[in-house]
Amino acid sequence: MNINIDLTKKLETIILENRIINENNCWIWKGKIAANGYGQIEFIGFIGQIHRIISYLYLDLDNHKDLCVLHNCDNPLCFNPEHLRLGTRVENNKDKCERNRQAKGFSIRGKLTEEDIREIRNHWNNKEFSMKELSEIYDVKVCQIGRIINGKQWKHII
Ligand SMILES: [Zn+2]
Repeated sequence: MNINIDLTKKLETIILENRIINENNCWIWKGKIAANGYGQIEFIGFIGQIHRIISYLYLDLDNHKDLCVLHNCDNPLCFNPEHLRLGTRVENNKDKCERNRQAKGFSIRGKLTEEDIREIRNHWNNKEFSMKELSEIYDVKVCQIGRIINGKQWKHII
């Protein structure tokens, strides 16, 4: 971050003062929460995500700006640097999909109808949309579209 050392120190102090440490040693942010579920802070006119700011301070994110910050503890409000790691976008999506599947027993079962599944496969087979576009149209994750197309999910629907 291009702000001076004193301000960085001050920002770090504010963030550390706003944590609750739980039994897993997660540092839980107790300030504002953004729509995406991550902790958020407004500081000297900037709005930043807590886990990313901490990654700038502790994990050298500054030199790897294209990387995502992943949570080893699966808690989006946690900002303990020992629970965070830098990863690629692909790893990030995989992480989220795995987590979603574990947490909800695969959300598409509740969300998509058998008709949707047929449509998705038809669109794909007719090369009408990309996987990314299909994920936006049907409001599910790209990896879930992948599973539908590859027949790993909803095998019984032809
Ligand atoms: Zn944690």
